[in-house]
Amino acid sequence: MLHTIRLPAGADHLRWVVGLQLALLKGTCQPGTTGADIDLAWITRQFPGATVSEKWLERLAKRKDDVAKSKRTVLELLQVIADFPDDVKLRLENDFDSAHQFLDSFESGVFRRLPGVSQLEADGLYAAALAIRGFLESFYAPGFYDDHGYEIPALNKPATSFHRKGYLVEYLAKNQNVQVCPYCDGSLGSPELDHFYPKAEFPQLACHPLNLIPSCHECNSRENKGSKIPLDKDAADPAAAWFHPFLRSASGAFEIQFERTGNETHAILHSDNPQTQQRLDRLTELVGLRRRWRTALSLKIRATQNKIRKHNSMSGQPESEEALCNKLSEWADNCACEFGLEGFALLEHAFLCSAARRDVATYDELRIYAMGDDVVSGE
Ligand SMILES: [Zn+2]
Repeated sequence: MLHTIRLPAGADHLRWVVGLQLALLKGTCQPGTTGADIDLAWITRQFPGATVSEKWLERLAKRKDDVAKSKRTVLELLQVIADFPDDVKLRLENDFDSAHQFLDSFESGVFRRLPGVSQLEADGLYAAALAIRGFLESFYAPGFYDDHGYEIPALNKPATSFHRKGYLVEYLAKNQNVQVCPYCDGSLGSPELDHFYPKAEFPQLACHPLNLIPSCHECNSRENKGSKIPLDKDAADPAAAWFHPFLRSASGAFEIQFERTGNETHAILHSDNPQTQQRLDRLTELVGLRRRWRTALSLKIRATQNKIRKHNSMSGQPESEEALCNKLSEWADNCACEFGLEGFALLEHAFLCSAARRDVATYDELRIYAMGDDVVSGE
């Protein structure tokens, strides 16, 4: 969300998967439908128009969920859900609708309820929480995973296979200006798909394209974002203090400032707008940005020091401070061409601009090189 990112074409395929989930859930939650009614023929009847083959639906019905040790199949989970009392079924159906409306109306702030399964558990509905997670999550894993995937029906054409790996390739093709991690601006490496709203708590969004965020391994890891929930649960608008990678970007709304603590220089995301600042602070906290940018910054500083050394050594003498600052500005300009393409280019650019202005927090890191006290042979 430091960059504006766009959904790939495959988002429509994911919406189709969400439509499958909805059709099955609504059918199952009909008052009067019981577990005994549900078999493969029943599943097939939920898709009049027959856009998917019966064979494919049979494979879907046999998929086992990863959530509970019981490893129940989609068919078994539908039977379990169908046997819940009508009020519980109504709630599961409403929770599904609410979660989707939450994303649909994100910016308008009109619909502000994102129901989690922990609320079902808090109300003693453990079996319902487990079954709905198992049912909805199995459309993501194993459903969407590399070695499984979906056959997407196409009118008058052979069905196309659709899976996570291909989706990431499509995402990169659609976002040629943003090939870095949208959370941290670091290198995307071998991208992972982060569930912005974790699927364990919000299984309704397990396959929603706006909830699947290509991110770097570090951001997706447990010690950083992992399964943290980017929401203020009890606030009137739980998402007000947060950016969203697709729906509310920080791009162009912040600057990177530097402060010196002890012997270390820190980078800080800054905005003059208090609400934007709050969102920047939440993002910083969410992905451990302060700690990770400190490491990235120290590498950028070292690289700049080496460049100055090399530059001095080539010209045979240290540059004047003014000449050095001009050089830093030039390097900053070059760096701006790499926004979104090179990891932490935003950070490096801000550092070079700040040092070129001789701001104490950044220029001190380079001053010794400018003064020529450290002229060494270079590389
Ligand atoms: Zn990242």
